Amino acid sequence: MKKKVIAVLLSAAMGLSLTACASEEKKNNSVYSITASLSEDKVLTAEVTCKYVNNTDVPLDEVWFHLYPNAYREGAKVCPIADGEVSAAYPNGKSYADLDITSVVVNGSARDITLSGTDENILAVPLGKTLEPTDSVKIGINYTLKLPNVSHRLGYTDKSINLGNFYPIACVYKDGAFVADPYYSTGDPFFSECADYSVEFSAPEKLTGAFTGAVKSKSSENGVTTYSVTAKNVRDFCAVFGEYNKMSGLAGSTIVNYYYYKDSAPESSLNTSIDAVNTFSKLFGEYPYPEYTVVQTSFVHGGMEYPCLSMISDKYAGDSYKDVIVHETAHQWWYAVVGNNEVKHAWLDEALAEYSTMMFYENNEGYKYTFNGKRADALSAYTLYCETYKDNGMGNTSMTRAVNEYENATEYSYMTYVKGALMLDDVRNTVGSGAFKSGLKRYYSGNKFGIAEPQNLIGAMEKASKRRLSALFESWLDGNVKLFSQH
Ligand SMILES: [Zn+2]
Repeated sequence: MKKKVIAVLLSAAMGLSLTACASEEKKNNSVYSITASLSEDKVLTAEVTCKYVNNTDVPLDEVWFHLYPNAYREGAKVCPIADGEVSAAYPNGKSYADLDITSVVVNGSARDITLSGTDENILAVPLGKTLEPTDSVKIGINYTLKLPNVSHRLGYTDKSINLGNFYPIACVYKDGAFVADPYYSTGDPFFSECADYSVEFSAPEKLTGAFTGAVKSKSSENGVTTYSVTAKNVRDFCAVFGEYNKMSGLAGSTIVNYYYYKDSAPESSLNTSIDAVNTFSKLFGEYPYPEYTVVQTSFVHGGMEYPCLSMISDKYAGDSYKDVIVHETAHQWWYAVVGNNEVKHAWLDEALAEYSTMMFYENNEGYKYTFNGKRADALSAYTLYCETYKDNGMGNTSMTRAVNEYENATEYSYMTYVKGALMLDDVRNTVGSGAFKSGLKRYYSGNKFGIAEPQNLIGAMEKASKRRLSALFESWLDGNVKLFSQH
């Protein structure tokens, strides 16, 4: 996500490198088949069938699903919208989601509907038998969802209907348990595995839909348009509807789509999206999907990344709008293709997305921003932050906290985006640009479609540079780094 952030070298000893990559083993993806229908009065009716593949190495008796829409309900304890953002996010006063799960079926047999988790954020589905590793089970979940009137990832305004995290998605099973974090307001608190999607989505004809993946067919009947969409090996599936204009272009063989309703220079926004896909493909490794879609939306923050789809807030324009496009596009590499636990290690994708944005300007002339300018801004912003907050309870500059452990969104943003980018710049200056870029390529290719841990990034940089870098990373991640000088 892109928030409203403005947006001394330590010595590193020579030494042996450590681990390499997270998950290169071949596995069969789970498959989601979704039939969804959006009504005029913003109620979603959906049938989700998940062919869940047990890709863990232990037998499972149940499968847990995140129910992210439930966080928007009245009475939620953990809300996706921070107190300070409520008035900006709800254009017409508070509005709530209403999620009603009407049936849960496992291999054809009905199950009780049991909501659990810290805030009714989990649907635990008992399988009725043990699911051995590599085996699969068919889980059907039917529900209706009344959307909230909110300018957020999930909700509608008079400009767009944002459907981020609109369906039950399987929790990642890790270290003996399903990871079941609720929908915190800080960061992008999501964690999921790549899967294949086949989606039939119907909506009022006056609306145009933009989706993760490729639209295979589209037909209209009785005022309703139905889209048939497929997406393979994606970490999540998102849809956005609005009264859109659409432009498309090519980045290599990738179709790049741009949907907008308010843009005085749409070609320029499309070209920025194409430049970003081309630049990051060259720097980190090829964008692996056939389409990439950038969608202007109503959104209280700057933008939000989903696989193959980025939401860009209409409250920005011009150079800052393009800057958000670049940042969100970088997330296609860091979060979408190379996944990570965004609750626990938010810096891992945000620092990379922010630093990749700086690298974009280094590789593209004709934009307002420059690499050096962005780096100088980050240095002065971080220095000012430390000076301002060191004595008033926000002096903890560690980046190893989970998103809900930061004091507030400001502290989180400065640590994961600003300090995170400075950390990567320090690593780059320590190992040299060549090794740094080769480390990023290694990290990308070694963790593609998998879930990376911080050690995978550190290990990739160590391998590429043939230096021991753990202490350098840890001094930034855990410690209170003092900035001695600009370089
Ligand atoms: Zn981001």
